[in-house]
Amino acid sequence: MKGFTHFISAVAAASCVPGVIEHASSERGLILVLAGAFGLLPDWLDFKWTRYLETTHHDIRPDANAFDANAIATELTAILDNVWQTETSQRVQLHTMQLASDRWQRYSIWFDPYDQQLTVKRGPIVDTGQQFVCETQLRTATTALQMPVYYGYDGDLKVDIFEGPTIEFSVQRDPKTKQKRIEVDFLPWHRRWTHSLTLGIVFGAVLGIFLGWQTGLAIGLGWITHVLQDQLGHMGSNLWWPITKRRSSGLKWMHSGDAIPNFLSVWLAVAVILLNINFAAQVPQFSVANWLIWGVLLPSVVLGGTYIYGQRLTKSQRQTRKIVELMEELVEPQV
Ligand SMILES: [Zn+2]
Repeated sequence: MKGFTHFISAVAAASCVPGVIEHASSERGLILVLAGAFGLLPDWLDFKWTRYLETTHHDIRPDANAFDANAIATELTAILDNVWQTETSQRVQLHTMQLASDRWQRYSIWFDPYDQQLTVKRGPIVDTGQQFVCETQLRTATTALQMPVYYGYDGDLKVDIFEGPTIEFSVQRDPKTKQKRIEVDFLPWHRRWTHSLTLGIVFGAVLGIFLGWQTGLAIGLGWITHVLQDQLGHMGSNLWWPITKRRSSGLKWMHSGDAIPNFLSVWLAVAVILLNINFAAQVPQFSVANWLIWGVLLPSVVLGGTYIYGQRLTKSQRQTRKIVELMEELVEPQV
């Protein structure tokens, strides 16, 4: 979810704490703002601190002038072999290729768990907003994977702007079959301890002792709302750190950056805040039935339906794109 969505959702959750709305116009009005800030904190900690604390074991630095898909595929395969044999996790930094101040050469990596192969492909040139600028000659390399690899994400891993992503390979057991496999974790420093419900409860309890139970509960709810919202996406979080060691997978209902889920979340958060203000008012301004129909059900059905329909279209478009890509590979030389 976007930062503002997390902020306003945390404020909405805090507004449900008894007495907080009543205090909002008095000297304790900062409780809501504090809860919103704690709703932003998990991502702020990750992107400003945690990412710089973890070391990487390998750096892949492609050359924009002589892009070699084979070399990247070979290097990644060697790392996977090493992880499989030593059973030690290893992190890889995938560096980007900047062509100009607002131009980046994209490449992508796809771990295909069904055909047991790894594909590296040079993509188009994009701008810093990751928007398509122009196509480049297709360069692709595919190597067979010698071990089962689990890649729990939707689509290929695109590397294009800024510093590029980090991935972690580690040997784990398949929860169902108990067989060994290598799991690919995208951004291994993200959504670990900072995105745990445990920490939300601890923060709420500790700050509640010093600042009062309402503030503690509001802060804890702000944090927990962020973690639960993130859980709607693909990546998931390490929900019960330090009891649990790894991220559990998300519900995969949406992508965290998609416009409609973010807009709907903001809408519903504002609706919850308005309802709580209405409850706190001496003379309520609207009925709960009207609020439920016009403020919650109607926008949820319209926006939720539009999003689900859009996802369906995207899937069929993905199929079309896949066929186009296959046709391109038939006529383009393999590098
Ligand atoms: Zn987050």
